[in-house]
Amino acid sequence: MGRLVCPKCGFIIARCLCDSIAKISNQIPIIVLQHPSEKKHALNTVVLMKKCYENISVFEGENFNEHKELQNIIINHSPALLFPSQENKTLSRSQKISHLILIDGTWNKAKKIYFTSTILHLIPTFTLEAVDKSKYKIRSSQFENSLSTLEASTEALTILEPELNTNALLKSFEKMIEFQIEKMGPDTYLENYAKKKGSH
Ligand SMILES: [Zn+2]
Repeated sequence: MGRLVCPKCGFIIARCLCDSIAKISNQIPIIVLQHPSEKKHALNTVVLMKKCYENISVFEGENFNEHKELQNIIINHSPALLFPSQENKTLSRSQKISHLILIDGTWNKAKKIYFTSTILHLIPTFTLEAVDKSKYKIRSSQFENSLSTLEASTEALTILEPELNTNALLKSFEKMIEFQIEKMGPDTYLENYAKKKGSH
């Protein structure tokens, strides 16, 4: 009883996202540091990002101090890390940024990556201006004051490469959420959502 998978987008046929997937030719490479536990989530937005961005790398791990590729980027280029810090600099187009680095994981896991991987402390950190509340309804508690990795990437690119059109990616993202709500059923969805909402 294997579920049929669409050979193009890799999602199951009933939830094929091919219609809404469009390539985005970003000039500034996106680097996603993904916590291993994030990979298993049904709503892993990085899967979608990989299908749309032409210039994206995903590094998996928790401690990136010995990661050669990342070391090279940090030593030889001028990357920016999207992560809330005390400096709290706001991302703007005037900054010369070679790579955009994002951390993918729950808030606790993201913090773990940041504080374990001291190599990341060499990179200037940036935050985004307040934007619409995340559409990531199902796992909203994890993104209480932040965006999903996918939304953060489109927001950042809108600032750094305003000529890029990321609407299709956001559409696919919304579709992915709708499919998930359908799959869970509205009751389960409400239960999960209400519970999470109540805990804050
Ligand atoms: Zn497909």
